[in-house]
Amino acid sequence: MAVASRSSQSFFVLHFSSLSITILLCSFLLSPLPTAAFASSGVRVEGLESRPRNLYPEILRDEAVARLRQLGEVSDADGYLERTFLSPASVKAGNLIRQWMEEAGLRTWIDYMGNVHGRVEGRNESAEALLIGSHLDTVVDAGIFDGSLGIISALAALKVLNSNGKLQAVRRPIEVIAFSDEEGVRFQSTFLGSAAVAGILPASALHISDKSGVTVEDVLKDSSLDITEENLLKVKYEPRSVWGYVEVHIEQGPVLEHTGFPLAVVKGIAGQTRLKVTVRGSQGHAGTVPMSMRQDPMPAAAEGIVLLESLCKCPEEFLSYDGHCKSISLKSLSSSLVCTVGEITTWPSASNVIPGQVTFTIDLRTIDDMGREAVIYEFSNRMHQICDQRSVSCTIERKHDANAVLCDTELSMRLKSAAYSAVTRLTGEIQDEVPVLMSGAGHDAMAMSHLTKVGMLFVRCRGGVSHSPEENVLDEDVWTSGLAVLSFIETQL
Ligand SMILES: [Zn+2]
Repeated sequence: MAVASRSSQSFFVLHFSSLSITILLCSFLLSPLPTAAFASSGVRVEGLESRPRNLYPEILRDEAVARLRQLGEVSDADGYLERTFLSPASVKAGNLIRQWMEEAGLRTWIDYMGNVHGRVEGRNESAEALLIGSHLDTVVDAGIFDGSLGIISALAALKVLNSNGKLQAVRRPIEVIAFSDEEGVRFQSTFLGSAAVAGILPASALHISDKSGVTVEDVLKDSSLDITEENLLKVKYEPRSVWGYVEVHIEQGPVLEHTGFPLAVVKGIAGQTRLKVTVRGSQGHAGTVPMSMRQDPMPAAAEGIVLLESLCKCPEEFLSYDGHCKSISLKSLSSSLVCTVGEITTWPSASNVIPGQVTFTIDLRTIDDMGREAVIYEFSNRMHQICDQRSVSCTIERKHDANAVLCDTELSMRLKSAAYSAVTRLTGEIQDEVPVLMSGAGHDAMAMSHLTKVGMLFVRCRGGVSHSPEENVLDEDVWTSGLAVLSFIETQL
């Protein structure tokens, strides 16, 4: 898909993946989310160790952290945490979660894609259901909170309700789902679990194979799950049967810790484009070709990478807009745009050879879909100019696109007041406003947004570190997240 090569540049040529249907409306851009602004908005909810522990319901206090640690021990590897799609450790973790769901008073089952469900029907089983979820799989050498926190905090909240005799009094069905795959480590295809529930997983996904040639279908059948194209359709939920989807997740970035606030409401999840840039020149001897006679792709690639950094740091210096809406879009873009060159390869990659070819990747994310297109267009134009000036050629291929997802305003308001109430209950003081963040990382909520309205809460993690054994969440913040889910569910009584 070489959409930005010289012959096929087009601002509006979009190649959407299956997960990229949501279109951002201009009106959203009227309320951009400058992350830097959050630094002054939060109260310091720190030093909680000295606070009385009975501020939390006992179940939250005694079980949530212990269960996170217990789940963190369920691994396919010795010495580090790894749970990929339906691996032995994933199956074991799923069974453990199922047991905890039953202890919380939920009716449980495992669907054909290996997702673990726990549900209470409440007073009206035909009402639209509230779904709460996150993923049980992990990356390689993972932390114990990514994904698991969203499942455990929801189960802890429901168990508190159950122990208070209120679980059956909820006015709509509430269902917790532990998704079988979000990270996509084994099959390089994210959201296998939630995309199936949302009804956007194509049947062809069943035939994707891992490095050893084993397919998604093989793995499911090995786990006694009778997956067929027909049964895949049965995993899908009917939109009219669902009221909304809520997910609690660690932030995986440093902003929330910087504000000093334990929880944030998520405004939306950034859209993403991945590009592959290939620069071709003239391969030659490092000692014999004069500098003035070289067609060296390496300096052209280097200049392009530095250009990208400048463009993404200060897009307003490179892009110009006409009209009110577009000028506001530029502000939104400036506050959320991040670009990364994470991989670079050269050919033939020898110290005494002028390379014939240099390839690098670009990962570009922002909440502003129109802005993302504008940045890609501007970068492509300037990259081609650089290559022309250096007498090399370049091709820019578009490898992946996912549009931004906006969280639902009403759900976000409810989550915000639940977070506020949890933190206020915790500190006994009136708090400043709960921060609102944009998510630069993808989550199951992205897939679920194709089924229903979504809302998310972020929980701060130490140093913003994630996808690492160094990932850490304060015990008090785990409890606070459970308390926030409890407050949110209590609005459904
Ligand atoms: Zn995650």
